[in-house]
Amino acid sequence: MKTSYPQRAPAGRRPARSAKFKNAGRPAPMRRNFDTQVTPIANPGKILRFIPFGGCGEVGRSMYVYEYDDDIVIIDMGLQFPEEDMPGIDYLIPNVDYLKPRKKNIRGIIITHGHYDHIGAIPHLLDSLGNPPIYATALTRGMILKRQDDFKQSPKPNIEVITSESRVKMGSFDIEFFHVNHNIPDCVGVVLKSPGGTAVHTGDFKFDHTPVNEKPADIARLTDLGRQGVTLLVSESTDAEIPGHQISEMEVQKSLEEIFKVAKGRIIAATFASLLTRVQQLVWLSEKYGRKIIIEGYSMKQNVLVARELGYLQIKKGTIIESKEIDNFKDAEITIVCTGAQGEDRAVLMRIANNEHKSISLKPEDSVVFSSSVIPGNEGTVQRLKDVLYKKAGKIYHYSSMDIHAGGHAKREELKLMMDLTKPKYFIPIHGNYFMLKLHADLAETSGIPKENIVIAEDGEVVDILPNEIKKLKERIPMDHVMVDGLGVGDVKEVVLRDRQHLAEDGIFVIITIVDSNTGRVRTSPDIISRGFIYLKESQELLKEVRSRTRKIVEEMTVSGERPINWIYVKDALREKIGQYLFTKTQRRPMVLPVVIEV
Ligand SMILES: [Zn+2]
Ligand SMILES: [Zn+2]
Repeated sequence: MKTSYPQRAPAGRRPARSAKFKNAGRPAPMRRNFDTQVTPIANPGKILRFIPFGGCGEVGRSMYVYEYDDDIVIIDMGLQFPEEDMPGIDYLIPNVDYLKPRKKNIRGIIITHGHYDHIGAIPHLLDSLGNPPIYATALTRGMILKRQDDFKQSPKPNIEVITSESRVKMGSFDIEFFHVNHNIPDCVGVVLKSPGGTAVHTGDFKFDHTPVNEKPADIARLTDLGRQGVTLLVSESTDAEIPGHQISEMEVQKSLEEIFKVAKGRIIAATFASLLTRVQQLVWLSEKYGRKIIIEGYSMKQNVLVARELGYLQIKKGTIIESKEIDNFKDAEITIVCTGAQGEDRAVLMRIANNEHKSISLKPEDSVVFSSSVIPGNEGTVQRLKDVLYKKAGKIYHYSSMDIHAGGHAKREELKLMMDLTKPKYFIPIHGNYFMLKLHADLAETSGIPKENIVIAEDGEVVDILPNEIKKLKERIPMDHVMVDGLGVGDVKEVVLRDRQHLAEDGIFVIITIVDSNTGRVRTSPDIISRGFIYLKESQELLKEVRSRTRKIVEEMTVSGERPINWIYVKDALREKIGQYLFTKTQRRPMVLPVVIEV
């Protein structure tokens, strides 16, 4: 007798489980049929049009479209992490229904930099847009391709490598780029010259006059553009609320060095997984002060790998060691660079703090460095984490008391500088929640751009730039949420977490079926075990129906089907069809675990 236990279906083949919404009015789920809607909005004709597909109303799922006549240029294609009321949803991506019937007009996709809120939706959307060419700098290309590894089934992107000096013709658009600073290297802003005017699209940026490991933002280019005449400035708004300038990475480096000078034990530095500039600073300082580096956290490891391969990180041979080698070195010879500065439960720092890490636990001599800001909404978890850390570690350094972090986004003075340099006729703020867009628009007005020349466009609104006027159309493009679930899982821990949330929400439903492997017939009535889903005694009708469906689903595949019987297919079919049936009957999605026993 052989028992075939439930297995996880491979990523991408999991049943089309989509989120159950607490909020029943919410639009339904992922894998929408993009072909069902045709929008009535006419092409712009001989004028420049701008449409935010995402990123205007939230920081996340950045995607912006420029149109002139029959030519479409897309800038960025990002994802957004979900709200708290979307259990099991991995992330949201932009809705591209408007572009579907206009695929043939898409001349290219420009990606400004490698953050997930700018590249994350690429594997999901490329195919539906006809796989147009992508233009990106070398590091950004590396990040896109690395992510693509998790999506074997989506088409291979065609990526042209550009630099800030490149020029590309895309239909009516002459595209140029300019270098900007941010908190990941190799970022560009975009200049779109068309017969309808010149648009300058900043991408995420800040001005750093003394950056680390790269050039300062290209102020001379921006000044030139301003002299030649800029019709429209489209500028990011993340820090539009914050006065002053971002501190320079050089200052950050100096402050971090003060910590290295006095630390007696290990240094544990937590930051964002993609903050490669910070990783570089920690590497240099560790090399200078005779420390080895342990990089912990799946996504951070991946990013370091890509950046190092492409030459964006300078790390001496032997500087990086594995965590299992930690005992070969004195504490004063170790720097641990990890994720988890937001207090995330499953990230490395929290596991270290809670003694749940396999080889690292806190010691009284440790110095813990929070080298990242706290993302709004995470204040509570960060405080909890600090409580644990203050109990166990020696020294805690936080960016609020020391200049050990610089954000990646222009603050108010820098936003103003961008306007002063480019001297645009029209202005549209992007990349922010509504209040950030509004504050940025107000700032533009105080900088001398007339009120009637400033437009706040939210996701899906269509802005036409006429010769003497900028205006929003009355119509919007389709914008209902597109959610992604269960695809492209790169980190097993995330899968486990989602399963747990899933179990907590909707419970578990186990179906045990005994099948005669000769005849393919189901032997006795299938057994059902359920926890946290429904009270079995009161659901006899439902169970009866599940048993009879189970028998039917199994026998359809096993009685006359191919030999040897592919039990994985049988179980996948059971999981999918019974899951679907339970959902239609109960509006809940328990985790369905089929167990098939062959006799
Ligand atoms: Zn960014
Ligand atoms: Zn961004």
